[in-house]
Amino acid sequence: MNLFLASTNPGKKKECEHFFSYFYPQSSLHLQSPQDLSEPIEIVEDALSFEGNALKKALSYWKRLEIPCLADDSGLVVPALNGQPGIYSARYAGPEASDKENNQKLIEQLRSKNLLGSPAFYVCAMVLIWKDGSILSSKETCEGVIHENPQGSEGFGYDPHFYLPDQGKTMAEITREKKNTLSHRAKALEALGQKIRQFL
Ligand code: IMP
Repeated sequence: MNLFLASTNPGKKKECEHFFSYFYPQSSLHLQSPQDLSEPIEIVEDALSFEGNALKKALSYWKRLEIPCLADDSGLVVPALNGQPGIYSARYAGPEASDKENNQKLIEQLRSKNLLGSPAFYVCAMVLIWKDGSILSSKETCEGVIHENPQGSEGFGYDPHFYLPDQGKTMAEITREKKNTLSHRAKALEALGQKIRQFL
């Protein structure tokens, strides 16, 4: 069974692959992504919501490939920064910004406003478009606190600064297995639950 993940983010792909192989070990699911195509689609993420961008990514590929397409639009929301970086999380420090540059900007913003240690949450909007064009969606969050000092080397993006009080660790200090039991992305995939199970 081929499922297309409309994301160029290798961290997301690894987490989704792990999610399916761990929670659905019997499935013969093969996850493809834009890197597997000779001509990936250039998608401008110009919607003003996570849901809108996820739908745009999934629809763009579904129209071209006509196979089931899954898309995740996600990001970090810091209420004390009026919701920044939000839907701009991947390009917070500029259009081609690296994770390191985005993290530096986040910490500088919080430090300059004396807001280090602020609560924050990750959001993930997930859209799955079936072969016949029917659309399923979910949206989940994961709560944490922004720590000044980065800790850990797992995960990606803002994970080294995203501290999980219940775990006593940052998201980058927990294993992929653990992240896939509590993250916004895992919860959004799980929320598609029954429907995904029918599909596998
Ligand atoms: P998108 O590819 O446009 O959805 O942007 C997602 C961005 O949000 C990533 O590049 C990260 O900066 C951030 N992000 C989303 N999920 C995570 C996560 O699980 N850990 C760390 N950062 C994340």
